Order: sequence, then C-alpha cells, then structure tokens
Amino acid sequence: MTDIHCQGCGAIIQTTEPDKAGYTPKSVDGNDTILCRRCFRLKHYNDIQDVSVTDDDFLTMISQIRDKEGLVVHLVDIIDVDGTMIGSLPRIVGNKRVILVANKMDLLPKSTNRNKLMKWLRSAAKEAGISVEGVYLISSAKGHGMTDLGEAIEEHRKGDDVYIVGTTNVGKSTFINKLIQKTTGTADVITTSYFPGTTLGFIEIPLDDDTALIDTPGIVNRQQIAHYVSDHDLKVITPKKEIKPRVYQLNNQQTLYFGGLARLDFIKGERQSFVCYFSNELAIHRTKLKNADNLLKEHRGGLLSPPDEKTLEILPAMTEQTHRLTQEKTDIVFPGLGWITVPGGSITITVHSPKSVRVSLRQSLI
Ligand code: GDP
Repeated sequence: MTDIHCQGCGAIIQTTEPDKAGYTPKSVDGNDTILCRRCFRLKHYNDIQDVSVTDDDFLTMISQIRDKEGLVVHLVDIIDVDGTMIGSLPRIVGNKRVILVANKMDLLPKSTNRNKLMKWLRSAAKEAGISVEGVYLISSAKGHGMTDLGEAIEEHRKGDDVYIVGTTNVGKSTFINKLIQKTTGTADVITTSYFPGTTLGFIEIPLDDDTALIDTPGIVNRQQIAHYVSDHDLKVITPKKEIKPRVYQLNNQQTLYFGGLARLDFIKGERQSFVCYFSNELAIHRTKLKNADNLLKEHRGGLLSPPDEKTLEILPAMTEQTHRLTQEKTDIVFPGLGWITVPGGSITITVHSPKSVRVSLRQSLI
C-alpha cells in the first residue's frame, strides 16, 4: 500500500499509535485530503496536542532554528524535575536565552516553600548545564501563575520569537492552549511550518507582525519513569490532586515500600518521622528490613503494586544507593514518583529505585 500523507503537516497517516505523528482514529480509504488528528484539531478547534518525534527528527527540526535569535521557555514537571530537565538543551537549541517554567504546582502541598523551590530549580538547571534568566512556577491546568509568566515572557523575549520546549507529558499542550486562550481568540491564526526532511512542523502562534510563539514537539527523555510503566500504572503514580503527606514513625531496620516500584530502608539512626509525598493512590507498606526482600519476591505485582504485569515486562532492574544524611531536613527524591522528607541529624538510609530513575537529595522544600 502506498503511504498517505497528512495534508497539514506531511506526516505519513497511521491508525495505530495515537501519540505519534500522523495518527488518525478513522480508517483510511485512500481519501487524499486527509488530516491527521493533530492537524484536524488545530484547524477546527485551535487546539494543540503534543506528539513525540524521533530524536533524529527533533534534531533536524531544531537545527533549523539554532542560529535564530529567540527566547526558550523550558517547561518541566515539578513532580519529575530530574526526568524532565533537558540537560543537552544549550547544545540542542544553540545560544538562546532560557527561562525555566515548573508546571503542575497545584500538586504540591500548600506548605511548600516557594523560595526554596525556586532556588533548588535554579541549581538543578545549573547542574544540568543550563543557565536560566528566570524561574517561574505555574499550574497550566488551573491557570495559576500564567498572567505573571505571560508578562515575564514579553519582557524576556525582547521582541524575538519564543520557543516552547519540554519533554512529553510535562503539560506543554495544556500550557500552550491556555496561552492561546489568553492571547488570541481568532481562528486560523495558528499555522504549522513545514520542515524539510522531517515528519512534523512546528506550530506557530503569531505574537505580533514579525514574531511568533513556536511549539516544538515533545522530546522523549529515557530517564522519565513514565516510559517504564503501563498506562494503568502511570495513572496510579501520577498525582491528580494536591499531594497529602503520609507520615511514618520508623525505627532503624525498618523499610517502606512505595508500591513495588521504590523502597527506602532506614539503616541507622534514632527513631524518627518519614513524611512521604506521593500520589494519594500509591500504596505505601511498612515492613522489617530483614523481611523486605522476601516481601518483594512474593508480593510484587500483588500486594506491592504497581508494577502490574505489563510494567514488569518493561521496568528496568532495581538498583540501590546508600546515603548518610547529616544536613538538617532533607528530601529524598524519587523522580516522577515523589519524595520523602526526613528530619536529618545523623542517619543512614538505602534507597532502591528502577535503574535510570536516579534518586537525588535536596534541602527540604517544606
Ligand atoms: P504534553 O505531553 O507535554 O503536551 O502534556 P499534556 O498537556 O498532554 O499533559 C500531560 C498530563 O499532565 C495530562 O494528564 C494533563 O492533564 C496533566 N497536566 C497538565 N498540566 C497540568 C497542571 O498544571 N496540573 C496538573 N495537576 N496536571 C497537569
């Protein structure tokens, strides 16, 4: 069968993978004016949906804007900063100004210290090799922080184009759709620009006569736990509402399991409280350290789930790291899952997480 191309973006039409370029839910019968779902929604509803592209396509597209002036708005997911920060960003986009925008703030407890959070984000960006001009906290779903951010973008862009960049699932479509509602009401202003040699074009939303807001496709970051769990499990581990802290008083030689996806062993130290910030739907189990291995062996996928069967097929093996905490209050962060706040002092813990989802420590945000 010959390939049928979308009349909007040029992608090859396909009916099997909704998240990939060229998807249409309809059966294709050789109709030569077909639009993929993404272009259809864009044309008729001014609604933007994210699709991921291959790394090669992404690099080809980006390389065509490398030398242009512009401001990059790098969106990250506040629940998965390590998994959504694009370390290679300056190498990919060239020498552009960058502002960092942390989305999904509505999921954090109200008691979160925003100053500490912004400081941590700035240093996380620096560690990833990105020097940022500003850090902004928003909830694109709720619309929080959007007005301030809109003004900040206007100021930082200094009359240049604005590129919105993020990994898949950070909420980029939600964010851009909110921005469009604020900035334009007119249909047909949004266009796609075609890039030779790629399956997709950037979506462009005009800001004035000469410049535009440009949506780049989502980059797939292999460190995101979202890529290693089934759709069902992703729903369980992704918080839907403000996270409610769950507190465990632990003695040393006790273990906490977060489903069967992550584990914390309290090895040494005085009895103290471990405050856990995870999706309210993710079950936490406490057990004795000496029984912990057996519990996982016997109950992973059952009592200790997620993982479900599908996740078990794709989940990398667990690895462990031991930390001796000396600081005051510390957060032990499992990127994409949540974090545990410990009062600190002098304690030793061992954390277990799927390989590629690297646990990190930060000064407590609460
Ligand atoms: P994209 O893949 O980056 O375009 O992300 P989407 O806009 O499709 O959003 C990915 C998921 O995150 C969806 O389930 C959204 O409902 C959710 N989401 C997006 N923005 C927010 C937000 O501000 N708060 C919360 N709680 N969820 C959000």
